[in-house]
Amino acid sequence: MWQAHTIIHNGRPIPFHEARIHPLALGVAFGIAVFEGLRAYRHPSGSFTVFRLDEHLARLAQGMKVLRLADPPETAVLRQAVLEVIRLNEPDDDAYLRLQVQIEGMGMMATTGPVGWIAAALPRERGAKFATGLAATVSSWTRLPDNAMPPRIKASANYHASRLATLQAKADGYDSAILLTARGKVSEAAAACIFLVRGGALVTPSRSSDILESITRETVITLAREAGIPFEEREVDRTELYVADEVFLCGTGQELVPVTSVDRLAVGDGAPGPVTRRLQAAYEAVVRGTTDVHPEWRTPVPGLAR
Ligand code: PMP
Repeated sequence: MWQAHTIIHNGRPIPFHEARIHPLALGVAFGIAVFEGLRAYRHPSGSFTVFRLDEHLARLAQGMKVLRLADPPETAVLRQAVLEVIRLNEPDDDAYLRLQVQIEGMGMMATTGPVGWIAAALPRERGAKFATGLAATVSSWTRLPDNAMPPRIKASANYHASRLATLQAKADGYDSAILLTARGKVSEAAAACIFLVRGGALVTPSRSSDILESITRETVITLAREAGIPFEEREVDRTELYVADEVFLCGTGQELVPVTSVDRLAVGDGAPGPVTRRLQAAYEAVVRGTTDVHPEWRTPVPGLAR
């Protein structure tokens, strides 16, 4: 597998292992950073495209605004860096991309800069459970509420909570944690959104269920609508997870991954279901450009065809 050898830090390409910030920088001390995880897909022709680059950049800009960062990097600069870092690392297969903006200065609670950023490209294989499905549990940890640590913002510090839930799930013998809101409604998984299939209809928690406004979620909703699959966005109860015909998680990193049990109760017949399979295939076609639909979702990486 290819290896990352170059990272772009504050606009400069440098050797991957030489990127540095001070441990007392607010990005480390308080976790004051926002980031995006994106994917570049290698097409059968050997060319590469980044999936939904502009939507990721827009969400990052929202995060920088909410964090009140001083002098945030311009979207056009970050966009160029993402394309450049892929080209520089010469991947021969799919890449997972990380854009991260952090406070690199030291200071106090209200310090807003100086702000720095990185763009990185890393190898990432598809998860093993993509085909077979995950054993999930409903976590005893509660999803962060919007009025404390807004999950709508992809802030690094939010992942402290996701990590606690994941570590607990693994300690208890599960693959993944599903978190409930403070009101006890289904929110999302530690790093992915959640969909259920009930009576042929696709159901997902609404945007006010303390979720990250996931780009994959929005992609799945669009693909489902275009395939004529009935769709509901609403509050979801915990017990709906136990009686659903199908459940799957989705996100840039995990893509679409079936959930085949929740709290050791089989989902449907305990195997990935037909709606999940159909949407997985539609997603694969659209990210890898084996369909002509939604060309606006695929940004070509110039200067790279392998
Ligand atoms: N929720 C959380 C908490 C996440 O970390 C992620 C991964 N970014 C997602 C959902 C999925 O978001 P996206 O589809 O934009 O990658």
